Amino acid sequence: MSELSIRNLRVGIGDKEILKGVSLDIKQGEVHAVMGPNGTGKSTLAYTLMGHPAYEVLAGEVCFNGVNILDLEPDERSRMGIFLAFQYPVAIPGVTVANFLRTAINAHRRSKDPADKGIPIPEFLKMMRQKMEMLKMDPAFAGRYLNDGFSGGEKKRAEILQMAVLQPEIAILDETDSGLDIDALKIVSEGVNTLRGPHLGVLVITHYQRILNYIKPDFVHVMMDGRIVESGGAELALHLEEQGYDWVREKVTNGTAQ
Ligand code: ADP
Ligand code: MG
Repeated sequence: MSELSIRNLRVGIGDKEILKGVSLDIKQGEVHAVMGPNGTGKSTLAYTLMGHPAYEVLAGEVCFNGVNILDLEPDERSRMGIFLAFQYPVAIPGVTVANFLRTAINAHRRSKDPADKGIPIPEFLKMMRQKMEMLKMDPAFAGRYLNDGFSGGEKKRAEILQMAVLQPEIAILDETDSGLDIDALKIVSEGVNTLRGPHLGVLVITHYQRILNYIKPDFVHVMMDGRIVESGGAELALHLEEQGYDWVREKVTNGTAQ
């Protein structure tokens, strides 16, 4: 069973400390949500887990299946089975969705077997079309340049398509709900729910409870000022929806948070 284990993680950008000791364990098969107001360090956590060079790890460790991944490059982390769906996916003009996906699959295959010749094109096309159908994507999408001129919903669907094709063991979704109308949100959530299962651990990062109506979390954590200050089950997200974050803030100020 794969497990991502985050221990007392402290992360800075420039000379500012953003994450001030975050601990979290995510196992295959579990869905965790990290919620919190803007600017509390949620994206910092996501980028640090993926190895973005702007984020400096000051202390703590992140282990995946017992291996400390903090010294690994982002592509090595990806090949180990960790996937990040970005809050703001970048456009890659000149690279089609299909080519991007095939390149990513082949990189993963080659890391397991250096002699691998790559996925045969008919097999790849069949798999990609199946996944696109699941996400209710127009087949013409595969021939477009990645994220180039995509709508907000199309970008998020393209991220979930990558996830479906790469079949990670741990997926981190950073504000996958932002910029989605309700129909697109449902489709994206359905996609995640289809992929959900004993082989996938998910970290859903979100400001709003809305996406958690569709992707039901097993565990909910509240992040505030670079720390996880409250954890609970799915009911915690509903409580936050009704009460906002003020009560958590008060608990933190009074020193009665967990
Ligand atoms: P969230 O995702 O919870 O909204 P972020 O992790 O994006 O929060 O940001 C946490 C804090 O780090 C904010 O105060 C933000 O201004 C700061 N920050 C994030 N990215 C950068 C960056 N690249 N350079 C400087 N400060 C940053
Ligand atoms: Mg963010």
